[in-house]
Amino acid sequence: MIIVLKPDISLKSEEVKSIVQTAENFPGIKTETHVIQGKTRSLTEIHLHGPTSEIPLEVFEAFSSVEKVVRIRNKYRAIGRHEESMEATSFEYNGVRFSQDTFHIFAGLCAVDTKEHVEEMFSTLKACGLTTTRAGAYKPRTNPYDFQGHGKKCLPFVFELAGKYGIKVIAMEVTHEDQIEEIQTALKQSGNPTGVMLQIGTRNAQNFELLKFVGGQTQFPVLFKRGMGITLEESLNACEYVASSGNMNIIFCLRGVKTNLGDPHRNFVDFSHVPTVKRLTRLPAGIDPSHSVGKKISGPDGLLDIYQVTAQGVVAGANLVLVDFHPHPEKALCDGPQALHTRELEGFVKDALLVRKCYEERVSLATSSK
Ligand code: PEP
Ligand code: MN
Repeated sequence: MIIVLKPDISLKSEEVKSIVQTAENFPGIKTETHVIQGKTRSLTEIHLHGPTSEIPLEVFEAFSSVEKVVRIRNKYRAIGRHEESMEATSFEYNGVRFSQDTFHIFAGLCAVDTKEHVEEMFSTLKACGLTTTRAGAYKPRTNPYDFQGHGKKCLPFVFELAGKYGIKVIAMEVTHEDQIEEIQTALKQSGNPTGVMLQIGTRNAQNFELLKFVGGQTQFPVLFKRGMGITLEESLNACEYVASSGNMNIIFCLRGVKTNLGDPHRNFVDFSHVPTVKRLTRLPAGIDPSHSVGKKISGPDGLLDIYQVTAQGVVAGANLVLVDFHPHPEKALCDGPQALHTRELEGFVKDALLVRKCYEERVSLATSSK
């Protein structure tokens, strides 16, 4: 059960204390307070944990500080939307806002290889007006003999260059909790010139201990990628581990699922789930067209499949696009065949913004014709 307080109600007020007391007087009930940045305002919620099914909503509705009481389903307690009227969450990180209404392109290197390539990548981002990127330092690879990423060694130059080119947020995968400390230390040592969004890769989507760890810290937001071989429901439940451990600053990213039915694409593209994720949860929904399609192939009209699936996700309301670029894809140490060339970035951004505009017009049309 979630008790949503009216705006501007102080958590220290006598009435709020009394609401908490009333809740905790029910057997087995514990409460937790969350301040959530909603779409239009900051919301204070009191979450009740324990056997709430017999507690009447009216008990709390009677308090004048209470805006509404929502009986939550057992599933996705923290990330779930539960009711259509429940506001989605939003958060700001290093000056960048993320919500179900915002749109960001995280274009960059799948894996950091050389300092020169990072610089070429970041300067292209700057030229295209982007302040968000991806840069893999820790790479989980299927083959143990493949390049595993430079790890903490590359962090100082990645962060320094990010500062130089005005990059605000870098999506960076972590595969072990120790890496979070390495990122923290390197950021601090370089004077915090940028921000990092911790990426949980598809292979770790059900690494519950890692999920609890990234959820147990709130310095960095989390980009959670759906598990490639599990249902959407299982992935959302896994994502709930992050939120229930205390970190609600999460983006849920679709990246295709593994099945031969998607051939010749690397994964079966699942971007029709964008509206589903936004309906079932309060989180922004992302898409990764690169790891979904996995190759640079195009239709007879000249449009690359990566552009096409990006458009499919964006026209459906995706809030973030995570996409592989490289200044010299033929030299990339990881996923070169799917990387777009930096010279293609400007066109890619224009194409994505064109589709985003189309999505926004579709939303106004749907709202005005109701
Ligand atoms: C990645 O984005 O670098 C990656 C490895 O993606 P995924 O975990 O979705 O395979
Ligand atoms: Mn990759």
